[in-house]
Amino acid sequence: MHRTVDCVTPQILVVEDEPEMAALLVRGLQEEGYAVTVAGNGIDAMTLAGAASFDAAVLDVMLPGMSGFELCRRLREKSTGIAIMLLTARDALDDRVRGLDAGADDYLTKPFEFAELAARLRALRRRDLIGASRIDVGGLHIDMTRHAISAGGTPLRLSRTEFELLRLLAENHTRILPRAEIIDTIWGAAAYIDANIVDQYVRYVRKKLDSVGSPVSIVAVRGVGFQLIADGQ
Ligand code: CA
Repeated sequence: MHRTVDCVTPQILVVEDEPEMAALLVRGLQEEGYAVTVAGNGIDAMTLAGAASFDAAVLDVMLPGMSGFELCRRLREKSTGIAIMLLTARDALDDRVRGLDAGADDYLTKPFEFAELAARLRALRRRDLIGASRIDVGGLHIDMTRHAISAGGTPLRLSRTEFELLRLLAENHTRILPRAEIIDTIWGAAAYIDANIVDQYVRYVRKKLDSVGSPVSIVAVRGVGFQLIADGQ
């Protein structure tokens, strides 16, 4: 999928069934410069997503009918390029893990400050605008234009955050990447992020690399960070 550049108005899909919350999100996101489309449930959201291309989506987890998790999974199947933010009702680890498993890039627990949502969305968008168009490391090929990754010739289906993590490791494969640097680059707003999230995503990416017999591995260097290593090196 082709990603929009910064001079184009970013399109965002908001899926929230509570009218007051939806109105608040629309107003705030419009002030942030987004073109906002709202759906009150997952079915309507999928119809809208089929008719237009969105740069980002903000999904409430508690929706009538299809849950925000299921909607997230379906949106992610449709597009690897869309940035997906989940709004969870409580700070339950279960919800967080379910959300990340479903392919969300980030999540916020209600209630939240709108400024935090805006900052996190900006961080997700910034990732599009940095880096080379193509990276090759030991059998791992990353095509930024198509937002596609293959390992040993097999395409990998990654969530956006998984994609960015693997890209960051590939871009810096000659050195060990400190955990703090990974958090700063990928999540931007480091103050809000639990450092364990890096380990969580490394696990996800490793699992997907393993599933295709990848010629590269992510190695943990205790107390320092992570490095991408090509097999045989
Ligand atoms: Ca709701």
